[in-house]
Amino acid sequence: MLQEAKKVLKTYYGYDEFRHGQALAIEHILHKQNTLAIMPTGGGKSICYQIPGLITDGTTLVISPLISLMKDQVDALQSLGIQATFINSSLTMEEQRERMDLLRQGAYQFIYVAPERFESDYFLSVLNQIHLSLIAFDEAHCISQWGHDFRPSYRTVVDRVKQLHVVPTLMGLTATATDLVQDDLQQLLEVQPDHIINTGFARDNLTFSIVKGQDRTAYIEEYVRFHKEEPGIIYAITRKQVDQLFYLLQSKGLPVAKYHAGMSEDARKNAQNAFIQDDVTIMIATNAFGMGIDKSNVRYVIHYALPKNLESYYQEAGRAGRDGAPSECNLLFSGQDIQTQKYLIEQSEMMDEKKKQEYGKLQAMINYCHTGKCLQQYVLDYFNDQTNSEDCGRCSNCIDDVEKVDRTKEAQMVLSCVKRMGERFGASLTAKVLKGSNDKKVKQFRFNQLSTYGLLRHYTEKELTHFIQFLVAENYLLAEEGKFPILRLNQKSLAILKGEIPVYMQVVKVEKKIAEDYNVE
Ligand code: ADP
Repeated sequence: MLQEAKKVLKTYYGYDEFRHGQALAIEHILHKQNTLAIMPTGGGKSICYQIPGLITDGTTLVISPLISLMKDQVDALQSLGIQATFINSSLTMEEQRERMDLLRQGAYQFIYVAPERFESDYFLSVLNQIHLSLIAFDEAHCISQWGHDFRPSYRTVVDRVKQLHVVPTLMGLTATATDLVQDDLQQLLEVQPDHIINTGFARDNLTFSIVKGQDRTAYIEEYVRFHKEEPGIIYAITRKQVDQLFYLLQSKGLPVAKYHAGMSEDARKNAQNAFIQDDVTIMIATNAFGMGIDKSNVRYVIHYALPKNLESYYQEAGRAGRDGAPSECNLLFSGQDIQTQKYLIEQSEMMDEKKKQEYGKLQAMINYCHTGKCLQQYVLDYFNDQTNSEDCGRCSNCIDDVEKVDRTKEAQMVLSCVKRMGERFGASLTAKVLKGSNDKKVKQFRFNQLSTYGLLRHYTEKELTHFIQFLVAENYLLAEEGKFPILRLNQKSLAILKGEIPVYMQVVKVEKKIAEDYNVE
């Protein structure tokens, strides 16, 4: 069977070899086994359902929450001479009816629909009349309530599918799945553990960097000027930031477009097309941009501000280099962004439990900016991906000209201060106490009488806050989830206090900035 699959790969797509995980996924589907394929963006997921769809009789139904992508995918299949179409709300009723008729007659090998289509009983009745061989759930993480982009309407599709007279083979495909999401999808789609393919999340062609202590606007201007022949995306958090950056770069004569939800549909479409067709190379956008954009030659993604969690960050950054060519993902870190993200969580209508979860995810994102570890490894650890445990050797933590400085003594001072303050306060008040500040709150709690008061007065408050964040990032100290994370000691803190573990901090050698690097913003 695999021989035939390989032949199809060559004749239809022109490729000689399968990529990691593809052959196995195809084999499972050809054996009619429900399958879950977790592969990184650009890993080649489409082929995993398209090749079985081409080999087996009957129709393959692809469900995708990304209406904007359907047309491109269908066009690509049609250009290969394959009978494919999509049915969604962008069509007139007449067009929808025509395509439904053809579907009923078995005219299509592939049909793409959005989850909402399953709300129609008529659609289900047509599915019951045809020979459906496979249903592929694209962007399957959106089905799971644990997924970062959960769509309740998508989840109900699974129940509807199970009501079909004959349930075809089911396949879930996603680039992001934490353990929780994976377990959830496995259960929902009734996938046996042996039929989960997880090629890991590592993106070998991406170079991750954290940029600290720079004037962000100046950095971006210089970066895009240098890279202006290459397509790249700059993500900002707010529409206002997008507008400001856009007008600034435009005024400098740079080839730039913008995209956010506050723009009209036409304006967004024009901007998107201009970027996809390389009329402009720089796209400045909020996170509204990207889902469903199929542009494989994006050479860089810059995050102007801190994203809300690593799931979103990795997905957005991952839009770089889908064609496999070397690309850069740079995150510009500034401490103020933490407040913006907290504000957004606080303002949201989420239940308290969910808010707590979001604070926890935000903390992991902050830790990413402070860790001394390989950035790619940090992300893989976060997603519990054990398929690859070597440092990438490319990210800013791997290549920075750094030197390790012993900060055990300072760490002990911080930890004992946290303890003396009763493990009831956050990083900023702790920093104030260590600095020996005259702050009202410090006096109110009589922390100026503690033996640790002013113990690290030769550092600035900002440096101390960053140092505390570094301790949290390295898990030397616990920051409890919540709007104002409370610092608590953990096992490692105790070991540090007893002198059992030393604390080393990486500081950049170049420009002899030492710990000041943690200061400037
Ligand atoms: P994903 O959906 O996982 O992000 P795609 O299915 O869009 O990825 O594939 C990404 C790119 O990789 C596409 O241009 C596709 O043609 C290409 N590709 C897929 N499989 C192979 C392969 N076996 N060899 C070479 N290129 C491939």
